[in-house]
Amino acid sequence: MRSIDTLEQFYEIMSETRSTRRVLTCLHFRNEPYSDAHIAPLKEALLYLNRIPEANGQKCLKLDDKKTILLDLTYEIGELKKDIFFLEHNEPDFFKMLADLHDNFAKEVAEGVNKLKDIHFKAFITDRDGTVNNYCGRYASSIQSAYNAVFLSRFAQCCTDNSIILTSAPLDNIGLVDLSVSPKNAFIFAGSKGREYFNKEGKRCQFPIAQEKQNILNMLNEKLGNLVKEPKYLQFSLIGSGLQYKFGQTTIARQDITKTIPEDESLAFKAIVASIIKEIDPENKFFRTEDTGKDLELILTIENSDDSQELKDFDKGDGVTFLNNDLKLEMETGPNLICGDTNSDVPMLPSAIEKSKDVYSVFVTKDDALKEKVRNTCKNSIIVSEPDILVTILNNLAQ
Ligand SMILES: [Mg+2]
Repeated sequence: MRSIDTLEQFYEIMSETRSTRRVLTCLHFRNEPYSDAHIAPLKEALLYLNRIPEANGQKCLKLDDKKTILLDLTYEIGELKKDIFFLEHNEPDFFKMLADLHDNFAKEVAEGVNKLKDIHFKAFITDRDGTVNNYCGRYASSIQSAYNAVFLSRFAQCCTDNSIILTSAPLDNIGLVDLSVSPKNAFIFAGSKGREYFNKEGKRCQFPIAQEKQNILNMLNEKLGNLVKEPKYLQFSLIGSGLQYKFGQTTIARQDITKTIPEDESLAFKAIVASIIKEIDPENKFFRTEDTGKDLELILTIENSDDSQELKDFDKGDGVTFLNNDLKLEMETGPNLICGDTNSDVPMLPSAIEKSKDVYSVFVTKDDALKEKVRNTCKNSIIVSEPDILVTILNNLAQ
C-alpha cells in the first residue's frame, strides 16, 4: 500500500491520474471499449486521497520535516468520484448524478441548449478555471476530468470550426497543457491571456515582446525565484497558484482559497514583492500589478492600440485579437461563442463583437454585478451557475 504523506507525493499521484484520464477520454470519445483495469488507477488514487489524515475538515500533508499544510481537496476527490461514476455507468445516470450535485441543473441545461441549438460557431473561445473546469484551489493538481474532456471535445468537433482554451495561466511547465486530457487537436491551447499558444502542429507561437521588456521580466523572475528559495518564503511557491512564469507576465501566490497563510504574513510578502518591482522598475514603466487577494499578477505593459501612447496591461481581449489574426480564425464571419467566469474574461466580449456582431456568450457566475456587465456587453448572453452545467449544455448541443 502506498501512502500519501507529503505535498510532493500528492502532486505525483494527481499527475498520474492525468495519463489514465487521457487514455480513457480518448477511448470513450471514440466509443471504443475499456475495462475495469483502465479505471483501477483512478479508484486507487481516490482511495489514497481519502486516507490522507484530516484536521479541521481539511487534509493534512507534510511540506518538509517541520512544516505541515492543510488543504481542501474537494476538487481532486470530487472529480475522481465523478469520473469513476461516469466511466462505469451510462450517461443518463451520470446526468442524474450531476443534477443531484447542482441546484437547477436540468432547467439551466435546457435553457442553454435551447438558446444555442443549431448554431455552428466559427470560433469557440473559452476560459478554463471556473468556466469549463470546476474551480480548484491549487493549479498544479487541477487535472481535467475525463467526463469534462469528453463533453468539451464532442462540442469542439461537432459545433465549431476552431475551439480555443484561453487562460491566464502558463501554457506549459505546469501549465494548461499539463492539466488537459482531451484528444490531440480537439483544442488549441493558449496561455498567458492569449500571449502564447501551441498551433495544431505543436509549434509554440507568441505575441512579440520587446527585448528590453523581456530582459526586465527575466530579472524579476530571477529575483522571485531566489526569494521563494528562502525557507521563510518557500510556502508561497507551494500554495494556490504558486510561482508561475508566464509569457509577458508572472504570478506569485500570496494566499490561497482556504487562507492557509495568516493575513499579516501574506501582506508582508506582498510588500516585499512590491519593493522588488520598485527596484527594477522605479518609473513604473514596465509592470502593472494586479492583486486578486490570492495572487499578485505582475504584468508587462503594452502600447495601447488607440495610438494614445498610453501603456496598458495585456488583457484577454488583446489575446482574442492576437489569436484571431495569428491563427486566421476568421471571426469576422461569425458566429462566435465566448465563455468566461470572472471580470478578467469580460474584455473578450467587446474584442469579439468588434470583429463580428454575431457573438454569443455563456458566463458561469453567481455574482449579480458581473451578470449585469455581461448582459450589457453582449446581447446574446446566457448565465449559468456551475461549470458542470456549461459543459453539459455543450455536450448536449453536440448530440
Ligand atoms: Mg476563470
